[in-house]
Amino acid sequence: MVIGLVPTMGALHAGHISLVHRARKECGLIIASLFVNPIQFGANEDFDSYPRDQERDFGIFERNGVDIVYAPAIDVIYPDGFGVTVTVSKLTECLCGTKRPGHFDGVTTVVSKLFEHCQPDCAYFGEKDYQQLKVVEQMVNELDLPIRVVGAPVIRERDGLAMSSRNTYLNETERRIAPALFRTMRTVAIRLSRGAELESQCEWGNDALLAAGFDRIDYFEVCDGQTLERARGYRPSLRIFAAAWLRETRLIDNLAADEID
Ligand code: AMP
Repeated sequence: MVIGLVPTMGALHAGHISLVHRARKECGLIIASLFVNPIQFGANEDFDSYPRDQERDFGIFERNGVDIVYAPAIDVIYPDGFGVTVTVSKLTECLCGTKRPGHFDGVTTVVSKLFEHCQPDCAYFGEKDYQQLKVVEQMVNELDLPIRVVGAPVIRERDGLAMSSRNTYLNETERRIAPALFRTMRTVAIRLSRGAELESQCEWGNDALLAAGFDRIDYFEVCDGQTLERARGYRPSLRIFAAAWLRETRLIDNLAADEID
C-alpha cells in the first residue's frame, strides 16, 4: 500500500487540507504529522505564541480522511543530547535562508526524522513555502531517499492572501493590508511579461508594499524557480518571492512569473 505523509505544524487551514486531499488521490494510507518544530524557529521568533489547537486539528484531519495523525512529543523527535543537523547548502543561502539563519537546517532535520518514523512513499509539501519544497526535494534526491516529494499549489483567500497559520496574528487593519503582498507580486508578474526591467520592478515591489502599509520588507526578488538564484533577465520559469512584516507578523508568498491569468 502506498503511504502518503503530510507534514504540518497544525493550526490547520484549507492549504493544509489541499495537501491531504492530494495525498488521498494518490495514496492508500494517509499519515499527517502535527509537530511544532522548535529548532526551525529563531530565538526571537514565534515558537511560544505559534497557534496550537490539537483537538481541533485532530477533528479536521479525521473529517478529511487522514488515517493516522502522528503528533510526537518533543523528546521523541529530539531526545536529550540530540546532536545531528541535516543541512542542504546553496538553496538555503538566499531568500528566507538569509533572513532566518538556521531555519532550513531545522526543517530538513525534522523532516528527516518524520520520514524515518513514518516511512512514507510520497510526501506532500505546499508551494506556499516554495524554498522549503525545493530544499526538501534536494535533500531527498541527494540522500537517495525512496520518497516522491509532491509540491502542491498555494491556496489563497478570496482576496489573494495566501492561507497561513500566522494569518491569525493579524488584526483587522493588518488583515486589510495583507493582500497587497499577492497583488503587488501579481502586478510585477504582469509587468515583467510585458517587458519591464527586472531590477526596477523589484524596487517598485518593495516600495509598493511599504506604501500599502507593510512595516518592513525582508525581500522582494525574482529568482530562478529551480536554483532560486536571483534572475538577471526575464524568462517564464522565474518566480517572484516576497517576505514582509506587518508589525510582529512576517508573511511570505511567491508566484510563478507566468502565473498571471
Ligand atoms: P505548516 O503547518 O505551516 O508548516 O505547513 C505545512 C504544510 O502545508 C507545508 O508543506 C506548507 O507549505 C503547506 N501550506 C501552508 N500553507 C499553505 C497554503 N496556503 N497553500 C498550500 N500549502 C500550504
